[in-house]
Amino acid sequence: MSFLLSIPPIVLVAVGGLVGFLVWWLASRRQLAKLAGLECPHCGAPYGRSAAVAARRQRRAAIGRYRTWHPGSRIDPEAEWILACPACAATGHFSPQAGKVVGGSA
Ligand SMILES: [Zn+2]
Repeated sequence: MSFLLSIPPIVLVAVGGLVGFLVWWLASRRQLAKLAGLECPHCGAPYGRSAAVAARRQRRAAIGRYRTWHPGSRIDPEAEWILACPACAATGHFSPQAGKVVGGSA
């Protein structure tokens, strides 16, 4: 343990931040891959990566708005991922709790 004391605290903070970022980045990548592999409940076509990226951008914006309205809250647990099908343009709602796309209307 004594070698840890010889490391400047700023280095420990930087390493901790880097590890945190890597964990977040890997989880984010896995989430995108999962979204991209989901199938549209309307026509059965896979959503693909671009729809997943768009859904993530939309959800982040929704979380940003929620934080503006509810300072101190972390995220809106009800916030859904809205996926637009590239094949039939139907809108699907991904439920993280259910792990699947629910709804889906043209
Ligand atoms: Zn579709």
